Amino acid sequence: MQVPAPFDYAKATSVDHALALLAEHGPEARVVAGGHSLIPMMKLRLARPDALIDINGLTDLAYLRTDGDSLAVGALTRHVDVLTSPLVAEHFAVLVEAERVIADPIVRNWGTVGGSLCQADPAEDLPAALVALGATVVIRNREGSRTVPVRELHVGPYETVVEAGELLTEVRIPIRPGGSSAYEKVERRAGDWGAAAAAAALWLTSGVAGYSIDDVGLGLTAVGAEHYIVPEAEEFLRGKLATEENFAAAGEIAARTCNPAADQRGPVDYKRHLAKELTVRALRRAAGRARVEEA
Ligand SMILES: Cc1cc2nc3c(=O)[nH]c(=O)nc-3n(C[C@H](O)[C@H](O)[C@H](O)COP(=O)(O)OP(=O)(O)OC[C@H]3O[C@@H](n4cnc5c(N)ncnc54)[C@H](O)[C@@H]3O)c2cc1C
Repeated sequence: MQVPAPFDYAKATSVDHALALLAEHGPEARVVAGGHSLIPMMKLRLARPDALIDINGLTDLAYLRTDGDSLAVGALTRHVDVLTSPLVAEHFAVLVEAERVIADPIVRNWGTVGGSLCQADPAEDLPAALVALGATVVIRNREGSRTVPVRELHVGPYETVVEAGELLTEVRIPIRPGGSSAYEKVERRAGDWGAAAAAAALWLTSGVAGYSIDDVGLGLTAVGAEHYIVPEAEEFLRGKLATEENFAAAGEIAARTCNPAADQRGPVDYKRHLAKELTVRALRRAAGRARVEEA
C-alpha cells in the first residue's frame, strides 16, 4: 500500500490564517485544496511536505462573479462550478469546453481552479484556456498581493511563480466584447489526460474582404509549449483575415514551435500533428461562433 511520509496538518479558517500557518510551518509546508493531485503525489513520495495547510474551509474563496469588466473566479472554486456557471457559459465557451473534458465527475466535483493552476502539470487543461483568454491571477502573501498574467505563472513542469508561504487567491478573466472561443482536446479515452489540446480565442471585425482578426489568444496543452503559449502563431494571425489558409499556417507554426515529449500518450510526431490540427480546429470553431453571433 502506498502511504505518504508523516506530515503535520492544520485547517485554515481565513486567508490571513492560511498565510500565518504557512509561515509558521516553514517552506516545506504545502496548501491542500481538492487534494486530487497533491495526495497521489504524496502517496508516491514524489511530494513530501512537512505540513499540509487545508484551505477547504475558506468558502469565501469559492465564487464566480463579474467585477467591472472581468470575471473573478476564487481559487477554491471547484471545476464543476466553472462548468455549470451561466456567467462562464455566456462569455467563455473555451472554458466550458476545457472543464467538460477534465477527468471525471469525481475529480471535477472536488478539484479546484487554484489547485489546477498551481499544480502546473504540462497536461493540465485550464492553463491553455486561460492564457488564450488573457487571464491574470492574484497571489497573496503576508505583505500584500500581486497580479500575474497566467502567461507568466508557469515557469516549468510543476513549477509556478507562487512561492512558499504564498496563496493563489483569484483568477481574473477580462470580458472583452466581440470575443469567441473554443477548446479542442484529443484523449485516448473519455476522462483521460490529453494527448494534446488547443485553446483559441478570437476577436474579429467583419469587412468587405471577410472577417479580419483584431486579436487572438492561443494556448496549447501537453505538447511542451513554454508557458502553454504560442506567441509566434498569435503574431502571425493578428491583422490577417480569418481564413482556412491563415488558420492552417498558424497551425503549422504551433506544430513547429512546440516541443512535445514522447510518452504513453503518443510519439513526438503524433503530438506535433495534434498541435497543428487542434489549433486549426479550435480557430475554425471560434471563428464559426463569431459569425453565428453576428448573424
Ligand atoms: C484521475 C485524475 C484525472 C485527471 N485528469 C485531468 C485532466 O484531464 N485535465 C486536467 O486539467 N486535470 C486533470 N486532473 C487534475 C485535476 O484537475 C487538478 O490537478 C486537480 O483538481 C488540482 O486541483 P486540487 O484542488 O485537487 O489541487 P491539490 O491537489 O490540492 O493541489 C495541487 C497543488 O497546488 C497547490 N495549491 C492548491 N491550491 C493552491 C492555492 N490556492 N494557492 C497555492 N497553491 C495551491 C498545492 O499545494 C499543490 O502543490 C486529473 C486528476 C486526477 C486525480
